Amino acid sequence: MATKRDYYEVLGVDKNATAEELKKAYRKMAIKYHPDKNPGDKEAEEKFKEAAEAYDVLSDADKRARYDRFGHAGVDGAAGAGGFSGGGMSMEDIFSHFGDIFGGGFGGFGGFGGFGNDGPVAPQGTDMRVNIRLTLRDIAKGVTKKIKVKKKVACSSCHGKGTTEPDGKSTCSVCHGTGRTSRIVRTPFGQMQSQTTCQNCQGTGEVITKPCAHCHGQGVENGEELVTFDVPAGAGDGMQMTLQGKGNAAPHGGVNGDLIVLFSEIEDPNLIRNGNDLIYNLLIPVHVAIQGGKVEVPTIDGVARVSIEPGTQPGKILRLKDKGLPSVRGYGHGDLLINVNVFIPKTLGKEESDLVEKMASKPSFMPTPKDRELIDKKYREMLAR
Ligand SMILES: [Zn+2]
Ligand SMILES: [Zn+2]
Repeated sequence: MATKRDYYEVLGVDKNATAEELKKAYRKMAIKYHPDKNPGDKEAEEKFKEAAEAYDVLSDADKRARYDRFGHAGVDGAAGAGGFSGGGMSMEDIFSHFGDIFGGGFGGFGGFGGFGNDGPVAPQGTDMRVNIRLTLRDIAKGVTKKIKVKKKVACSSCHGKGTTEPDGKSTCSVCHGTGRTSRIVRTPFGQMQSQTTCQNCQGTGEVITKPCAHCHGQGVENGEELVTFDVPAGAGDGMQMTLQGKGNAAPHGGVNGDLIVLFSEIEDPNLIRNGNDLIYNLLIPVHVAIQGGKVEVPTIDGVARVSIEPGTQPGKILRLKDKGLPSVRGYGHGDLLINVNVFIPKTLGKEESDLVEKMASKPSFMPTPKDRELIDKKYREMLAR
């Protein structure tokens, strides 16, 4: 798929657009590129779908926040999450989602009563949600997950058909196989024919006359599936991805629902996450702070050897460039920040106390006003950042 355009750009609004502005902008686009107005025009159809996808994301506060933070990767089917995965949105999806936005205005040119709704419709399986816990390493590198999902699967006896007999189904007598029944409604544009899903056959156009003994004609049974998927690097708490067709099987061999995977983070025993940066609280003994030395610091990949300069003060921050987490947008990397703390023992033996006593009498161990000023200077710099 080609590079996706920015959703705000697609709708021609700025980043701070209100819900009302978004709706207005989308409505304008939808009317302009509506398939009834542009029959057979593939480009218009793409534009129409693009606008619907943008509006789907931006009109949902949660998705919009994710999009603002992570871009397409935060809401995408391809890399992951939510909404119309992988651009697989059909015209029917659009109308079932946003039918209301067109209000009465669309009735003028044909309405959508008939659009995309001709003929029987396949039943839809329900979506499922699972929570996946990720370690920092999973988040840093991306990971392939394999999970067992308990769900409705196609009946093993009738393979979802609902019947095992070749003549076990017959055309619905109510809708005569069209899956839809019509009624006349009054609108501001006069009387119009409105179509609804046939209740007798749930829109499938067929009824089962000889139900499968195993599933009683439902076409589904309880089962499980081993689902494998890739979690993109940089994914984080609260993000989600949609695995199309991996949800519950639909009755009567219809379209499977989706499996929505929600991510949460497992707390790391060493590293604290702050956006794409990682923080490690290093604790060094007093003598290392005074004399300097080498210490080992845990990283995502293993350990890094870090030099501590002689005379290192508590609160010093050392930065290991690009040793943080990758951005889920695919460019940029966070850093690993080492926050240096100095360990002060709480209890001492006799000999140790004597050592400290000796130290106390030496002039180098007494701070001067200048040392205090240095702390002020650092603090002011930190506040200014
Ligand atoms: Zn069956
Ligand atoms: Zn029917």
